[in-house]
Amino acid sequence: VDTNSSRLTIAIQKSGRLSKESMNLLQACGVKFSLHEARLLAHSSNQPIDLLRVRDDDIPGLVMDGVVDLGLVGENVLEEARLERVATKLPAEFKRLRALEFGACRLSIAVPKEDTYNGLSDLNGKRIATTYPYLLQDYLQRQGFSASTAVLTGSVEVAPRAGLADAVCDLVSTGATLEANGLVEQDVIFRSQAQLIQRPEALNSAKQALIEQLLPRLDGVQMARESKYIMLHAPRAALDEVVALLPGAEDPTILPLSHTDKLVAVHVVSTETLFWETMEELKAVGCSSILVLPIEKMMG
Ligand code: ATP
Ligand code: MG
Repeated sequence: VDTNSSRLTIAIQKSGRLSKESMNLLQACGVKFSLHEARLLAHSSNQPIDLLRVRDDDIPGLVMDGVVDLGLVGENVLEEARLERVATKLPAEFKRLRALEFGACRLSIAVPKEDTYNGLSDLNGKRIATTYPYLLQDYLQRQGFSASTAVLTGSVEVAPRAGLADAVCDLVSTGATLEANGLVEQDVIFRSQAQLIQRPEALNSAKQALIEQLLPRLDGVQMARESKYIMLHAPRAALDEVVALLPGAEDPTILPLSHTDKLVAVHVVSTETLFWETMEELKAVGCSSILVLPIEKMMG
């Protein structure tokens, strides 16, 4: 990878929980790719961008060492790598560009369900299995407790039953994996979502310009995903009431209808979804033809 070239290099997870959404996000920003499963590097067909597809654990280091320009990675992996690199005196600087709205999870301490647990002090001097020893030790230290760690890169949730540890500190999204292994989530030590990060050194002007074009697109995609376009016919007399019922709708567009003076069309971009209950209330005050549409892109 040549970071002096004018092509922007972006590291993403090759295969795993972040891969699909990372690709989708770049594609939604207008960056086209055709991937060959076996290849590490994929060239965009319409932008001077190369994708480097690697294990997520490698992404923070690649960015912090300036090997790639941008990376998409979970905050958990990022912060673990940063703490480890600080401890081992490796470069640990990077620029945080955006929090991305996917990959949400939490790093939690969980204990076997048959154990009583009154708080972290119960784990003082015990052993905790985790893939995130630096995040865990950093948390324990800040809370004023100490426990040893058993570092496992997989199957953390079976460690207590296997007699390797007294508790686990593992990633949770729904909690189903913990439950299936007879563990109860107790303390959330870190909340995570995917992040877009940039290497610390300044980029050449061509790459910087490209990033400045991509970021507003990314914001537009993320904003659009959270928004809905709502259209309905409302009685002119009940307009204030109708607008008050619409969530996050600051200035609606009010349009006359050709066939009647009693009704107007109301169009509005809402930052929230419209629930069935609200639609029923709107209908009850005389609204009709209520439509809720997804928005693909937005630009202010
Ligand atoms: P790789 O082969 O790239 O190292 P991996 O097995 O380490 O993959 P995945 O399981 O694909 O990683 O998870 C990638 C990231 O997805 C996690 O680091 C975390 O940020 C996020 N994530 C979201 N929900 C969960 C979850 N329930 N369990 C684990 N990770 C999750
Ligand atoms: Mg990994």
